[in-house]
Amino acid sequence: MNTETLKSLILQKSRELGFLACGFSKATELADEREKLTEWLKKGYHGEMGYMENHFEKRLNPTLLVDDCKTVISLAYNYFPQKLQKINAPKVAKYAYGEDYHKVVKDQGFILLQYIQSLIPGTKGRVFVDSAPVMERQWAEKSGIGWIGKNSLIIRKGIGSFFFLAEIICDLEIKPDKATTDHCGTCNACIDACPTQAIIADKVIDATKCISYLTIEKRTDLLESEKDHLNQWIFGCDICQDVCPWNRFSSPTSDNRFTPNQWIEWNHDEWNLMELEQFNNQFEGTPLTRAGFDKIKKQLED
Ligand code: SF4
Ligand code: SF4
Repeated sequence: MNTETLKSLILQKSRELGFLACGFSKATELADEREKLTEWLKKGYHGEMGYMENHFEKRLNPTLLVDDCKTVISLAYNYFPQKLQKINAPKVAKYAYGEDYHKVVKDQGFILLQYIQSLIPGTKGRVFVDSAPVMERQWAEKSGIGWIGKNSLIIRKGIGSFFFLAEIICDLEIKPDKATTDHCGTCNACIDACPTQAIIADKVIDATKCISYLTIEKRTDLLESEKDHLNQWIFGCDICQDVCPWNRFSSPTSDNRFTPNQWIEWNHDEWNLMELEQFNNQFEGTPLTRAGFDKIKKQLED
């Protein structure tokens, strides 16, 4: 099978599996990122996420992660919810409404990898979904999925940014796609709207200031000044995506695994009365377990 045919079959299958975009890049070192990543870590913008310091070389170079790899296949999977939360209730980021995306999207990625292996037996590859040292956004940009916006997220024309990224890194040689051009232009809406000034420069986030980090990753108690900025966010934050003009194109996902439980209708009182058993009933298998009951409860009190 020639690589053009292989590529078009992979694209077709990715669409059947619900991926809204699929792009290809040559698996080589991301040399341009070395200095940026070094600076970002040196400045401590990763805060208590010590794991960001690990596997520095692997993060830059997929050939150290997957033996003999030749191609990174980048994939995007829509999570924009079918139903949104009540306006006046503690807020959860949209990506966390349903089942844990690591599993959902990885399942789809595995099916795609198995399909590729059925076409080309003996293909070696691995599927990644935000779970290993892979610079997902940089690969997504290189492969034409979208550009890295000033809010540091991948934005796709006609789609927006409410999607997960995944990668299949494999040993097949497939013609790479062209990188996408940047369409942020003179817009600064995300920078202006961020309540904590966490977007410190174009595409650079100081994670220690970001509400997502504060409500999910930070294990030590929040400072009073940090609590002041939460503005009812109890898990993640969507502000810099909600204000992005490209997200007017968002349309709901058709994957029912991202459909939220009854909590989506809860008001303040119902959230405040939530006990451990109810938390487990509503949120087992969702990203909220990453923060856990105690942290969520604490944020409700803050
Ligand atoms: S997620 Fe919220 S806090 Fe973080 S950069 Fe975006 S707007 Fe700012
Ligand atoms: S809000 Fe504007 S500047 Fe920010 S990512 Fe979207 S288009 Fe780019």
